[in-house]
Amino acid sequence: MLPGGGIGPELMSYVKEVFRYAGVPVDFETVQIDPKSDSNDDLEYAIMSIKRNGVAIKGNIETGSLDTEVLSRNVAIRNELDLYVNVINCKSYPGVRCRQQGLDIVIVRQNTEGEYAMLEHESVAGVVESMKIITADNSYRLSKYAFEYAKKFGRKKVTTVHKANIMKISDGLFLEISRQVAKEYPEIEHNDMIIDNTCMQLVSNPKQFDVMVMPNLYGAITSNVICGLMGGAGLISGKNYGDHYAVFEPGTRNTGTAIAGKNVANPIAMLNASVDMLEHLGHLKHANIIRLAIDKTINEDKIHTPDLGGNATSTDVVPEHHQVGTRQMICAIKY
Ligand code: ATP
Repeated sequence: MLPGGGIGPELMSYVKEVFRYAGVPVDFETVQIDPKSDSNDDLEYAIMSIKRNGVAIKGNIETGSLDTEVLSRNVAIRNELDLYVNVINCKSYPGVRCRQQGLDIVIVRQNTEGEYAMLEHESVAGVVESMKIITADNSYRLSKYAFEYAKKFGRKKVTTVHKANIMKISDGLFLEISRQVAKEYPEIEHNDMIIDNTCMQLVSNPKQFDVMVMPNLYGAITSNVICGLMGGAGLISGKNYGDHYAVFEPGTRNTGTAIAGKNVANPIAMLNASVDMLEHLGHLKHANIIRLAIDKTINEDKIHTPDLGGNATSTDVVPEHHQVGTRQMICAIKY
């Protein structure tokens, strides 16, 4: 468990409480990373711990400094563990009043290269170069992941998002590879769309999308647009996978510094991340119980924090004595 900064620690306390109540057979090794520290000892320890345990649940670690020597720990963890794919399943909650209802879109985002290569330098005074790295290998395994996902879960269409009209070589390679992979899956429809049009289509006609595959920064933008349409940063979780390790976190990766400690942060995105982790670990019964409790809390009891337009507190969503959660969990366990 990497609580991270801002609202991370309080959200993790809700995860622990719900796990304790639901009798989940998981112990946490908590690793706190100090964003202000100059040393990388915490980071190295966190990476070692994830390698040992195979999985992690994570809050966002602030990169509070614009000092060029201080690199993002979040990016470092993803790169070091080769977590090359980020999957965000954006499925609307019927009980949430939001701009778009009935969405069910899966974003498959490249997670370790592209614009997040962190390779920047000032070549001459006043001229900065920032490298965007697109490799054939990573593009291939990402596209493969997207089409395999579509096949496994009966999805009908994959859309490749890019800017190959301008970045002809880098995004051109990404697009070309996704087209080649698409040929291996004739039963799945494939199209492509430029990122700017994608943003417009997402706000005007989002139901045309099914599975979307894209380079790193476009994934960050797209997932924030979709989460905004569905009710904000507090609901949806994100999964980071490589061939060996998996890390689970809120989908839009916010630190939430401004709302920390005020008992208003929405616990749901982190609880959904914990359910994703339980599914990955094979604890399906416990995952299901908590998922049912979340759905009931949001859709039926409508216990909504301010980000969803409600006036409930965080602890109303995950009450200390589990008034609402308790009943639901006990029902789910019994039946
Ligand atoms: P910073 O690192 O400065 O905090 P950020 O890019 O991580 O910035 P935030 O400002 O933390 O982004 O989050 C974006 C918005 O989403 C904020 O308005 C924040 O309050 C809101 N938000 C994020 N997570 C939650 C949550 N769990 N519940 C309610 N609101 C949230």
